[in-house]
Amino acid sequence: ALATVNVSLGARAYDILIGPGLLQSAGEEIARRLPGVRAAIVTDSNVAEGHLATLQAGLEAAGIEATAITVAPGERSKRFATLEEVVSGILDARLERGDIVIPLGGGVVGDLAGFAAGIVRRGMHFVQAPTSLLAQVDSSVGGKTGINTAHGKNLVGVFHQPQLVIADTAVLDTLPPREFRAGYAEVAKYGLIDRPDFFAWLEKNWQAVFDGGPERVEAIAQSCQAKADVVARDELEMGDRALLNLGHTFGHALEAATGYDSARLVHGEGVAIGMALAHRFSARLNLASPDDAGRVEAHLSAVGLPTRLSDVPGGLPGAEQLLTYIAQDKKVSRGALTFILTRGIGQSFVAKDVPTSQVLSFLEESL
Ligand code: NAD
Ligand code: ZN
Repeated sequence: ALATVNVSLGARAYDILIGPGLLQSAGEEIARRLPGVRAAIVTDSNVAEGHLATLQAGLEAAGIEATAITVAPGERSKRFATLEEVVSGILDARLERGDIVIPLGGGVVGDLAGFAAGIVRRGMHFVQAPTSLLAQVDSSVGGKTGINTAHGKNLVGVFHQPQLVIADTAVLDTLPPREFRAGYAEVAKYGLIDRPDFFAWLEKNWQAVFDGGPERVEAIAQSCQAKADVVARDELEMGDRALLNLGHTFGHALEAATGYDSARLVHGEGVAIGMALAHRFSARLNLASPDDAGRVEAHLSAVGLPTRLSDVPGGLPGAEQLLTYIAQDKKVSRGALTFILTRGIGQSFVAKDVPTSQVLSFLEESL
């Protein structure tokens, strides 16, 4: 099974290729679209172990000369020091603007190497080769790149769109199960934003998505299409793109409250709890039916994701403190809070000016 999703941004457009075994033919796909290029593959040591040789062999067979730059796995590599290593590696290989950078890895490598591609020689071509579920359905689509600083996450970066995205759905078999589940939270998110039929399909087919059948390709393609649609409407995040933050206001607060300690909570787990809370909060505000909140919770629990504040290991601070973390998140203006709320499954909307008092009492009830 193979699916193609086209991302169209005015005059620019690019394909996302999705299917098992695509890493082998990545060289061919690249050579057909970008003839004569040379490449720098940027990867992390976990991904390099299982998948670098496959990509290299395919590139070589297609006549693409490639060097590999390997960074340490983990969020800590999204920083200036590692960016400098990547930039130096690309320049050492004497790549020109029309040559390509290929991030092969999860969202960390994609954001880091995509950023390097955006700034070296004022913007090089690049081809995303995402290897985590989160990267295949979210971070490799849409052109946001960047690194973290001491001031916070993703504060330095550029919008830089790839020429092609190659999502090999078979490489997900080596992903740790917890990482797969965390990425799945973002898949469910697209259904909950504005695709109720997709959410209902996931309720029936999630096990096959986890097992790796054609349903996995289908779920990833639907997710990429959903994100591509939002990005096409709002490339630079002036409006609708905010819907992609469903579950993220609560989720980011939980990540902050647990000190970004991945042993306690990874991003997708925070998002799962955040989406469940967003639905319960919407029901509490009489915007949505409690039955819909129950359905969301039931599905996320079925796949093994957390849905309640009490599911966070190690305990959480009180409601007041959680509210402080929410207020520090960037979706705040003038003391009132912006939330993605919902009128039901697949009917999310941007709610500006949600009174902090209502958030506080909801948190007190939920803790
Ligand atoms: P990650 O890149 O750290 O990957 C998770 C872990 O899985 C890592 O240890 C990695 O080495 C390993 N891994 C990846 N693919 C593997 C495979 N096929 N087999 C075995 N191990 C594998 O994290 P992530 O969850 O992929 O991405 C998170 C990052 O994405 C965050 O930095 C976040 O800010 C960013 N992000 C960016 C966007 C965007 O629009 N640019 C959107 C969402 C998230
Ligand atoms: Zn997310």
